[in-house]
Amino acid sequence: MGSFKPRHPLDRSRRPATTSWGSSPGPGYSPSNSNTRIHGPKPFALPEAGGRLPKLVPAMNMGLNSERLRAQMVHRLREQGIDDERVLAAMQTVPRHLFVDQGLASRAYEDAALPIGYGQTISQPWVVAHMLSLMSEGRKPQRVLEIGAGCGYQAAVLAQFVPEVFAIERVRGLYEQARMNLAQGRPRNRVRLTFGDGMLGLEHHAPFDGIVVAAAGVKIPETLLHQLAIGARLIAPEGTAHQRLVLIERTAQSSWQRMELQDVRFVPLRPGTQL
Ligand code: SAH
Repeated sequence: MGSFKPRHPLDRSRRPATTSWGSSPGPGYSPSNSNTRIHGPKPFALPEAGGRLPKLVPAMNMGLNSERLRAQMVHRLREQGIDDERVLAAMQTVPRHLFVDQGLASRAYEDAALPIGYGQTISQPWVVAHMLSLMSEGRKPQRVLEIGAGCGYQAAVLAQFVPEVFAIERVRGLYEQARMNLAQGRPRNRVRLTFGDGMLGLEHHAPFDGIVVAAAGVKIPETLLHQLAIGARLIAPEGTAHQRLVLIERTAQSSWQRMELQDVRFVPLRPGTQL
């Protein structure tokens, strides 16, 4: 782990640098390959445009099978090195198929990212498990912030073992989807969802015992580093064409330690909101 200090550790007024990405996810991104790791088991291929769509599985049938399919997914995650029992139990509980379009429900328990509309994806299960495990390793986080709620799946998983979960989504349509999906969970696993630009974090609710970012920026916004409690960890993808998962731990008031992990491919972190 190398230690680093942001250039202006006390300047909270400065907005994070904006990026110049266009409106498409960017070169090399597609719903089937974003929010995944690059090495390891291949995500399944989505049908090409004009190709046959996955067989539609009525939600009722899926409901009957889904517990078994989740158990298989959890078994696979263990084989892939995930060993945090809190995360595994949470992923056994949350019905991932309810967070994707009904036409994709039959594929909800494959280890793949899936499209959720607006050019965005629900993260690959291994990526969710890995990020949440690292963020909470050796800790019992009480209050966690997620940037990029998408359809709300990862926030729902977090809320199974973290008492206070805050999540931010910048695309209005996805925020609405996440709100509906999360309303199906038990009230005590409630997520506090905000429509807004997650690059600014949630100053009023900081400090957080963990921050998980589900979209990749050129640089991790400094603002978020200041919203970490001392001893807490942030995990985020960083980069554009080449991305890495980065784990940052706040070790003191003005010092942070940084570790670079796997190569990944995430959808871009964008400033502002989209109506
Ligand atoms: N957490 C999701 C992953 C969604 S993909 C899951 O459970 O699978 C990442 C999401 O980040 C997209 O929905 C995208 O709209 C959102 N996003 C990108 N930049 C953002 C920003 N600045 N603030 C909030 N959300 C952002």
